[in-house]
Amino acid sequence: MSDQRVYNFSAGPSMLPLSALERAGAEITNYRGSGMSVMEMSHRSKVFLQIFEETQEKLRRLMEVPEGYKILFLQTGATGQFAMIPLNLIGRTGRADYAVTGNFSNLAYKEAAKYGQINLAASSADRNHTYIPSQEQLKLDPQASYFYYCANNTIYGTEWQYVPETGDVPLVCDMSSDILSRRVDVSKYGIIYAGAQKNMAPAGLTVVIIREDLAGHELPYTPVIMNYKTMIEKDSMYNTPPCWTIYMLGLTLDWLEEQGGVPGMEKIKHGKARMLYDCLDASALFTCAAEKPFRSDMNVTFRTRSPELDDKFVKEAAGAGFVNLKGHRNVGGMRASIYNAMPAEGVEKLCDFIRAFDKANR
Ligand SMILES: *Cc1c(COP(=O)(O)O)cnc(C)c1O
Repeated sequence: MSDQRVYNFSAGPSMLPLSALERAGAEITNYRGSGMSVMEMSHRSKVFLQIFEETQEKLRRLMEVPEGYKILFLQTGATGQFAMIPLNLIGRTGRADYAVTGNFSNLAYKEAAKYGQINLAASSADRNHTYIPSQEQLKLDPQASYFYYCANNTIYGTEWQYVPETGDVPLVCDMSSDILSRRVDVSKYGIIYAGAQKNMAPAGLTVVIIREDLAGHELPYTPVIMNYKTMIEKDSMYNTPPCWTIYMLGLTLDWLEEQGGVPGMEKIKHGKARMLYDCLDASALFTCAAEKPFRSDMNVTFRTRSPELDDKFVKEAAGAGFVNLKGHRNVGGMRASIYNAMPAEGVEKLCDFIRAFDKANR
């Protein structure tokens, strides 16, 4: 198997489009006649600035980012935003609303509590984050500086199927694990952000799409590297940006465009998720962890009747070329992350494997 690529169901870092990897491979020592690798270039050089600007433009086009919004390419991962968001935004009223529907929104909530008065606007902890609270269940603070939520819960396998209505309170959304998988009306948001390593590029890049008027109200002790205003003014180049990862994002976006852009991707990912959920629902052995109306199209969480049988499934699947299917310890069982770059064929073959395992072990 060593010369063959496996179907990698990792939650992140995860699969990248083969065409993007091959292109990067072909260009690794000499980027388009420059005589050097993108890894070796000055971030201020003409050749890199072109990569940088084109990648920004591609993302703006694909996500239909309106005027008045800035696209930032930052570091410190999605987790860095857990601090950066309150540091920059909470100053207006000292208060913010958080919906906790999984592991990462809970971490964001705890981090934000260092900087202001945080209202728990909703929580799905009562049913181990197997569902998403409805609009009616949100307890909104009209004084909130912003409303925070995480669109897709990577660990629990649930996804918000609606955009919260919060009136004049800006929406801030962690889209790390579903960005570019479905159409998003960016104009409804104050900030959209995502770590790159699920659906965009290798780890090391955090994409932030911010309504520009939200910047410039940071708390006085905000580190300069975490100041949106500074990063907007310096076009993400206050210091050295993650050059290689930005280049890789550009290659992924080229691939995405060939798939029909975001609407094309949305159709493909819907088909893949439906195929997998249908197969699990039709089995005798497997049950899904997430409640049906809230199931994620990106992270499919499921289990058999016992942890022992789960282990057997994960082991046998790996032997057959389906790797990284073990679930997160908070949920147990299995998790198949089927991000954009997972080919439909990978899901089809996994379904064949699931059907055979179901027959042999029921
Ligand atoms: C992976 C993930 C994170 C954490 O990302 P880092 O880049 O490791 O900080 C945060 N939120 C969501 C939804 C994720 O899937």
